[in-house]
Amino acid sequence: ARKWTLKQKIEGMPAVEDFVIATEMLNTTLEDGEILTKAEWWSVDPHMRGIANQLPVGGMLPGGQVARVIKSRHPQFPEGSQVVNNFGWRDLTVSKPGTPDEQEPSTTYGMPDLRGLPDSYALGACGMPGNTAYFGLTKVCQPKEGETLVVSAAAGAVGSIVGQIGKILGCNVIGFAGTDDKVAWLKTLGFDQAYNYKSVDLAKTFQSNVKQGIDCYFDNVGGEFSYHTIRNMNRGGRIAACGALSCYSEDSSKPCLIPFDYMSFIYKGIKMEGFLVLQFAKEWLDGISQLRDWIIEGKLQVRETVSEGFETMPQAFIDVLSGNNTGKKIIKA
Ligand code: NDP
Repeated sequence: ARKWTLKQKIEGMPAVEDFVIATEMLNTTLEDGEILTKAEWWSVDPHMRGIANQLPVGGMLPGGQVARVIKSRHPQFPEGSQVVNNFGWRDLTVSKPGTPDEQEPSTTYGMPDLRGLPDSYALGACGMPGNTAYFGLTKVCQPKEGETLVVSAAAGAVGSIVGQIGKILGCNVIGFAGTDDKVAWLKTLGFDQAYNYKSVDLAKTFQSNVKQGIDCYFDNVGGEFSYHTIRNMNRGGRIAACGALSCYSEDSSKPCLIPFDYMSFIYKGIKMEGFLVLQFAKEWLDGISQLRDWIIEGKLQVRETVSEGFETMPQAFIDVLSGNNTGKKIIKA
């Protein structure tokens, strides 16, 4: 098997030279309950940057795969079937998934019935990022029809789904992304307004164009952007704290701080709730079914930025951290 490992500690934005491929001999004489799988699709996700800080040199990054079972001694995962898993940046894997009773759907599960949608969606809109958008918005932000929702990193895997679900729920949706092309795409998705956060004056944009104020904020970035958004929230506003992209490639020894208008929180009774998508593990497959149905009904559009080959994984990871992706960044084996 081949796996991508850390060649050296990463400082700031990763470089391709920070990673090296290691080979590993696998014992393919399987025991009861084991499967041998071959990756067909890999996911690279921004949160891996934080995990990389915790890894020793020589460690492998974790991450989702869609993989084909090529040998099996597990009745739930027969040879030839596909699994969605968290085996990481490697090609071949021997694993022992839990029995159906013990199994958490968010670790290894059989390929969900995507009714003809591409397999790779199981790592994006019909997988972890899709569920992050779906549960984070519906259960944490809980937007009501007619409310105004702001989404940061809106043209990414999670953000693009959040905004579109916001439209399905009848919200006025405002998205922010880092290039004019992404902004144009968000408008084609039905976002009511979209802006390039790198080129607009945020304070003026909110004051002039969001006069009704913000009721819900789905926060993927933290930082200065959050400060401006929160200052323009309405009484009773809700914030789903999903991620802090603005801090991921910063010095890991420092806490991720955001400027905070404390008095706004108090006077407006704003509620901010952090969440991890795994807390919705019991409803995992329900989320995926809902997302799949919306896609099939034409209510949700999906975009992927695909790179090809195991060798491209480090660059694909750098791309997702530096904004060179629209929709879900995915790697084809
Ligand atoms: P994306 O597909 O959105 O890719 C990351 C994007 O972030 C880039 O394309 C870039 O787009 C943007 N970005 C990078 N740096 C910055 C910055 N400094 N400020 C603002 N935007 C930046 O990634 P995902 O959809 O996979 O993840 C989105 C967020 O959701 C992340 O914070 C991630 O950690 C979080 N997440 C949280 C989960 C949870 O359980 N809480 C689960 C899954 C994801 P642009 O060109 O617009 O700058």
